[in-house]
Amino acid sequence: MIQSLLIANRGEIACRIIRTAREMGIRTIAVYSDADAKALHVRQADEAVHIGPSPARESYLVGEKIIAAAKATGADAIHPGYGFLSENAAFAQAVIDAGLIWVGPNPSSITAMGLKDGAKKLMAEAGVPVTPGYMGETQAPAFLAERAAEIGYPVLIKAVAGGGGKGMRKVDSPADFIDALASCQREAAASFGNDHVLIEKYILTPRHIEVQVFGDTHGNVVHLFERDCSLQRRHQKVIEEAPAPGMDEVTREALCAAAVRAAQAVDYVGAGTIEFIADASEDLRADRIWFMEMNTRLQVEHPVTEEITGVDLVEWQLRVASGEPIPLQQEELSINGWAMEARLYAEDPTKGFLPSIGTLELFQLPDHLGRVDTGVYEGTEVSPFYDPMIAKVIAYGEDREEARAILSEMLEDSAIWPVKTNSAFLINALAHPDFVAGSVDTGLIGRDGDAMTDEPAPTIGALTNAAMAIVPRSLQAGFRLNAPDVRSAAFLLDGKRVEVELHGPGTEEPAPAMLVAEGGSVWQLTPWRAEGGPGGAAGDGAILSPMPGKVIAVEVAAGDTVSKGQKLITLEAMKMEHSLTAPFDGVVAELNTTPGAQVQVEALLVRIEKDEA
Ligand code: ADP
Repeated sequence: MIQSLLIANRGEIACRIIRTAREMGIRTIAVYSDADAKALHVRQADEAVHIGPSPARESYLVGEKIIAAAKATGADAIHPGYGFLSENAAFAQAVIDAGLIWVGPNPSSITAMGLKDGAKKLMAEAGVPVTPGYMGETQAPAFLAERAAEIGYPVLIKAVAGGGGKGMRKVDSPADFIDALASCQREAAASFGNDHVLIEKYILTPRHIEVQVFGDTHGNVVHLFERDCSLQRRHQKVIEEAPAPGMDEVTREALCAAAVRAAQAVDYVGAGTIEFIADASEDLRADRIWFMEMNTRLQVEHPVTEEITGVDLVEWQLRVASGEPIPLQQEELSINGWAMEARLYAEDPTKGFLPSIGTLELFQLPDHLGRVDTGVYEGTEVSPFYDPMIAKVIAYGEDREEARAILSEMLEDSAIWPVKTNSAFLINALAHPDFVAGSVDTGLIGRDGDAMTDEPAPTIGALTNAAMAIVPRSLQAGFRLNAPDVRSAAFLLDGKRVEVELHGPGTEEPAPAMLVAEGGSVWQLTPWRAEGGPGGAAGDGAILSPMPGKVIAVEVAAGDTVSKGQKLITLEAMKMEHSLTAPFDGVVAELNTTPGAQVQVEALLVRIEKDEA
């Protein structure tokens, strides 16, 4: 058995792996960048090695530094987690060549499944149904357009090296094909260094269903049933669950058997996931589910499988990597209950899901109601360098409705501040009638997402409680309904004046600021004073850069009249585009940037002055 394990990752997955390794009596070694010096995974591991500057390509993605850290600390195995180097066959080989155990599949399995076209060909040969389409070598635009016409519109152009929902273009009609192809190839070349594409039939009413598989070095392969990850935003998973709603036993048998065949075809060892796409226009049917790709690693959403099977997948990974057989036979595995996971991100859904960074002054998640996998704690600085997922909230129930209700309650009981999160958005998504009914396709958020991103506001009840807590006791003591001496306490909330009526005698001024937490959101209440005004920056129209980045477009000029919500600036940060918008109607009083400018966090980019006319 592995004695000491280096975890080549960070955040929640590093902490998740440390937890199981510790339970198994394995010594754990963390690696960390400058930005992560005080991170939770560093605190939890038995030892930690600094491997470089904050950007991942100078630290977490530098294989040599990680192998050197393993050698220096006497680790005998490396677990890559997910992302970073987890699906890098050259790194896996280098780990093995260094005489270390690689907690993952053979490098040849990673390579076989690495490119979408090669993987699909291999799967078709192994008798696994694949999405109809073209996956050949010829890439001439006119030739590809002919293939698209044969497949029938709408089609999806996919970069063969794509991942993370990037490098895909849906094309609805032949007239749009050539432009979409060029744009997809440009993005693929820039993001993945490979402009090859394949063309697929675009599946209508698509559901994303995947099967957890596991192989060992003794030739055994089992599956641990399916997960449904159909609730997606821009092809990225938002909420995952297991089992899949509406999956009957016959379809499940066929799907899981296909997944096992897929894993066997590449002599798979360790934890892997076979992703399928289903046409759910007429429920789930075995002849309408096709192979999409294989992820040759542990998935973000593995906890829902653990919850319904009782298996610790990280324990299995460590045992299998140590040469042991898979602990259970297929017949010993069964589905018990229902599990649901929500990905909690440090981002602001009311501002186009812009990542939100800063220190977590308040970070509370109710782990007594379910499972919380996180890599942060109160006081952690959420930096702009890595994926903004700060926690996974996982609920378990006897049935789907119970799991859904518990997950919603867990999110409602969360309190995170001042970093913004998507918790209110997740609560709204969980309450969507289609989600409640278990009939979600991957387009749901695209169609109905706007209503889920409405700015949440505290209820009168929450405000009154808050007011009661911050007004002086002398005022509270005389509190009674319908008292003749009605006073009001006014507060500043997100730059807006909020008035709460208090009934009772008293003359003192309210005490200082406090936080109000309700329904998964947190607001700061500051006593409002008539003289001198609010005094803070919250109400003024200063548009600061929320993170370091590059200005890619400036949509306004100084002196322009703008209306609330109007796009002012497009910023590129963390490889994504973010729109900065006007907070209220007004005039562009100051404009301090130009397209192409690199900006620091909190740089004043634009100032809007209220239209007082
Ligand atoms: P990535 O590797 O970028 O994650 P995938 O091939 O796994 O790309 O696809 C990501 C998502 O895109 C799927 O979960 C699904 O929502 C959507 N998708 C992929 N292929 C199709 C298709 N043929 N038709 C409709 N939607 C698709």
